[in-house]
Amino acid sequence: MKVLVINCGSSSLKFQIIDTETEEVKAKGLVERIGIDNSRLKYEPAGMDEVEIFNDIPDHKVAIKMVLDALVDENHGVLESLDEIEAAGHRVVNGGEEFNKSVLINDEALEGIKRYIPLAPLHNPANIEGILATKELMPNTPMVAVFDTSFHTTMEPVNYIYSIPYEYYEKYNIRRYGAHGTSHRYVAMRTAEILGKKDINVIVCHLGNGSSITAVKEGKSIDTSMGMTPLEGVTMGTRSGNIDPAIIPFLGQKENLSYEEMDNLLNKKSGVLGISGISSDFRDLEDAAAKGNERAKLALDIFASDVAKYIGMYMTEFEDLDAIAFTAGVGENSASMREAIVEKLAIAGIKIDKQENDMRGKEKIVSTDDSSVKVLVVPTNEELMIALDTVELAK
Ligand code: AMP
Repeated sequence: MKVLVINCGSSSLKFQIIDTETEEVKAKGLVERIGIDNSRLKYEPAGMDEVEIFNDIPDHKVAIKMVLDALVDENHGVLESLDEIEAAGHRVVNGGEEFNKSVLINDEALEGIKRYIPLAPLHNPANIEGILATKELMPNTPMVAVFDTSFHTTMEPVNYIYSIPYEYYEKYNIRRYGAHGTSHRYVAMRTAEILGKKDINVIVCHLGNGSSITAVKEGKSIDTSMGMTPLEGVTMGTRSGNIDPAIIPFLGQKENLSYEEMDNLLNKKSGVLGISGISSDFRDLEDAAAKGNERAKLALDIFASDVAKYIGMYMTEFEDLDAIAFTAGVGENSASMREAIVEKLAIAGIKIDKQENDMRGKEKIVSTDDSSVKVLVVPTNEELMIALDTVELAK
């Protein structure tokens, strides 16, 4: 079955066509700068040269139309006709407490996604635009919504209630929702398959530009580091992660910042970018640290320390832990960061095999034979997870 996977941002749209029988990606690409000048479609058909199409792309409907045209184009198309697309799967950022699994999209589901706009004011509206545009262009194709938050709906109140007056949970739904759920679910599923254990206990470390750590007990998320929004948790590329909340009014007064400016500072100017003053990109930081830049080294040390502390904290939630799995840009590719994190776990008898770990982007066990917990690298594949859910529901 061929599935179109769509991940809509406010001004961008990522897509893939996946054959779910072979798990093969037939084509993938990205539409950038929707509604802005210089919009373009970057299209990568499997086994053919990449194509860039510059066009006026005022909205998501035009963007999706361009993608569909490219997929059946006589020169670089990968489909004979759009009828080959049997279903479409949409990534949706926040489904609140209600959507504990993926759903077939109908009017009721759309209303539900709209209800959670206050929890993801930048993302859910873009996801809805993508859904509506696809529906208009492919009215007879079943569509499925796959929520980033669903995997974490198995958390218990002890791990999702914040210690502020309880009435704000009741009044405004303020609680931990977590994020990257589709990635955590995929990596936990693959770890279980690799280790041949059904009810896996694993701590998944999704370390990329945004980073989150999830404790997965018997295959279910029981705790995760991101919060009501993706700002909480470990330090990130440009996000602060956890800081003393009192810094916010203190700094706001000192620097005369509005709520919007403070939000921008914590989301866009903080994290390893803010600490280093150089870059949010871990490759740049590793290069700078190697050349002796102290603040780049400090940023990397803080990141490693934050992740190791979360793993240590989450170990208290298990009687028995099978694995720690690293994924996403940094987790899959940075051997030095994995080593720095795992070395901090020596007290628990967790040991990395430096030789096995000296690689990037591959599914592999990288711990020593005598390590108390297996350490793995598992490249994430959110698109495949979305496609598999879509097929399941569209059937
Ligand atoms: P993601 O958000 O998952 O796409 O991850 C993006 C992050 O992965 C960026 O900060 C990149 O610097 C980082 N990354 C990608 N490749 C490498 C690498 N070879 N070494 C270190 N970091 C990397």
